[in-house]
Amino acid sequence: MGYSMPTSGIMMFYSCASTMPDSTIFVAVAIPTPLRNLFHYSLPANERVTIGSRVRVPFGSRKLIGVVTEVNSRPDIDIAKVRPVLEVLGAGGNLTEPILRLCRWASDYYHHPIGEVFAAALPSLLRKGADPQEPSQILILTPSGSLIDQQSLGRAHAQRKLLGALQQSGRTREELSAMDISSQTIRSIEKKDWAKWHAEVPAPLEPFSSGSVNHSGITVTEEQATAIDAVQNRTDGKPFLLYGVTGSGKTEVYLRVIEPLLKAGKQVLILVPEIGLTPQTISRFQDRFDVPITILHSSLTDKQRALGWLQAREGSAGIILGTRSAIYTPLKFPGAIIVDEEHDASYKQQDGFRYSARDLAVLRAGFEGLPVILGSATPSLESLHNADSGKYHLLELATRPPGIEPERYELLDTRHLEQKDGLTRALRHRIGERLANKEQVLIFINRRGFAPVMICNDCSWIAHCSRCDAKLTYHLNTNTLVCHHCGTISHNITRCQSCRSSQLSPLGLGTQRIEQTLTAMFPEFPVLRIDRDSTRRKGSMESFISEINTGESAILVGTQILAKGHHFPNVTLVAMLDIDSGFYSADFRATEKLGQIILQVGGRSGRADKPGTVTIQTAFATHPLMETLVQDGYFEFATGLLQERKEAGLPPFTFHAIIRAEANSSTTARLFLESIIAKVQVRNTVNLLGPIPALMEKKAGRYRQLLIVISANRSDLHREVRHIIQTTESLPDSKKVRWSVDVDPTDMF
Ligand code: ADP
Ligand code: ZN
Ligand code: ZN
Repeated sequence: MGYSMPTSGIMMFYSCASTMPDSTIFVAVAIPTPLRNLFHYSLPANERVTIGSRVRVPFGSRKLIGVVTEVNSRPDIDIAKVRPVLEVLGAGGNLTEPILRLCRWASDYYHHPIGEVFAAALPSLLRKGADPQEPSQILILTPSGSLIDQQSLGRAHAQRKLLGALQQSGRTREELSAMDISSQTIRSIEKKDWAKWHAEVPAPLEPFSSGSVNHSGITVTEEQATAIDAVQNRTDGKPFLLYGVTGSGKTEVYLRVIEPLLKAGKQVLILVPEIGLTPQTISRFQDRFDVPITILHSSLTDKQRALGWLQAREGSAGIILGTRSAIYTPLKFPGAIIVDEEHDASYKQQDGFRYSARDLAVLRAGFEGLPVILGSATPSLESLHNADSGKYHLLELATRPPGIEPERYELLDTRHLEQKDGLTRALRHRIGERLANKEQVLIFINRRGFAPVMICNDCSWIAHCSRCDAKLTYHLNTNTLVCHHCGTISHNITRCQSCRSSQLSPLGLGTQRIEQTLTAMFPEFPVLRIDRDSTRRKGSMESFISEINTGESAILVGTQILAKGHHFPNVTLVAMLDIDSGFYSADFRATEKLGQIILQVGGRSGRADKPGTVTIQTAFATHPLMETLVQDGYFEFATGLLQERKEAGLPPFTFHAIIRAEANSSTTARLFLESIIAKVQVRNTVNLLGPIPALMEKKAGRYRQLLIVISANRSDLHREVRHIIQTTESLPDSKKVRWSVDVDPTDMF
């Protein structure tokens, strides 16, 4: 690839004082397009750029925002044809040197075009060319506007609402439209000279200063102290894997590690899983430290996100707490990086630019010389293997702090037990007992909706999605059949599509069905269903949590949404239903994921005076892996799985990359991959497996075939992938078939 960048942290400034052609400066620009090359432009006189500057450039007939990767470049086309940069954008939005380096590395490693990687690293407002330091226009009251008696406006409700809002503070157009105030209302108030637009220059962002620390009387355990000490007095640059069962005090270790850093004016970047960013997690950090915290999550407005990015970049936020894409946040005073629940699937981006934020965190920490902690009660096999092989330091919290009892696991073997609506008699009995005892019960079933299958009793027809290789899930409340993979919804299906019979019945279990069953079984107790359907509305999760925290006896029914960031001290029984598919899935990672979810959900329950019991209904009660998991714990379980992976030559003992082809027909996708295979020369240190259909071959109307590249050696793998990409780009079909590269894939869908 033709880009080059200074390896030191020096930012070089170039300017051009003359318009003489021979002194014209050219720059190489990375542009967000699927093309892998850089593009050259001339820099207008008197403009200055650095590597990392955002520039607006002509691209075909469009104008795009790109990032300068080289100054004084040598255009690879006739100089007379080089077009000029249209605009150099505000330097406050430039990519900093460490982020440039991270992006460049990621582009190389994940074989993704650098322009798209930069675009992923920038908040969307900056990506669209906005200038974060530019004054923003706000609507403020004029002196005559502030004298208006709102009562005098009578029935002009909209105007009254607008004046009321402006009396509190000036508002941006974005804020006003969020309040449903129309531009017509704004204009009418402007015309009366009651309000006017005013350019507000943002206050300069000052470095944060750390205030008091609130320890609330916790004395750390010996194991915690050892872990804290190891990070604070580290002697090498290796990452730390903090492995501790849920409730063992990992968060307390994070808090203690970052305390001296904040006092020294250093910033800390903390990554959490998508649904781990709960009010409970945020307040742990807010309650402890008196420093500004920037929170980056998916429901921020573009403006809020850009502001958060800027606060981090300018050093005015002490803690930056965010989900996957927060890994690209620049830090002015970097102190440490923490990845909580490092095993979580949400750290892997599964489309477009596919990267692992956890792995990038390790890389970035290395580049910036920072300590990095990966924490989990159920570490990924990759991270455990890295600890085994000495690449990571393993820090273990094997015991819980005093007063926090471990939960107890119990297997109910469904092969010998009669069930009613998915519940064994033993389980029904235990649920009743806990409720009568004024305790709470959590029923885990990882499938939303009423039933995963709708079947015709007369001809055994099953409702399938027409666009995916998937059955439709029946949703009772809305009386719809929904595809959970492409979102297709069919309303009012009353007849079999094959024999027209009206004898359709739902088969299997979903959260809605369990909710209905338990409501009928225990009518005097509230049943709270917590899944993506019931928490879609903003604030609904918070209201569930506060209802649960009243401690009244209740039944919670939920999916894995419950498994992160929450603790339910009044829940003393966790029942897990219908988990067995983890044992017979075609995905070799399914057992690892199953073990993780069992312990993560189980670990939500109980407290000192009321330890939790976790009851698992399964037909695999005597499966050796299941027995190991509940009797010996996660470490033994994972060690067994690692041994199996080693024998089978699977990751983390080999390295994988997937070339995915997507087309309108299965044959087109398969033939495309076959034509790649026919053209590439494979070294004997690399294996090509495929083409094979993806686990769900047809999804949203398109067919996916995979080519898996396997090697025991990373550099051989990358060399082969590069070779495949070059070959593929030269194929005549490469534009007809959508194809992508996935390095270190985490699923085969
Ligand atoms: P984890 O992050 O491993 O799930 P937490 O850090 O949230 O664990 O700790 C679980 C609970 O135990 C929290 O309420 C925390 O305040 C408490 N805790 C942590 N460390 C100690 C300690 N050394 N002594 C007493 N309580 C502790
Ligand atoms: Zn039928
Ligand atoms: Zn579908």
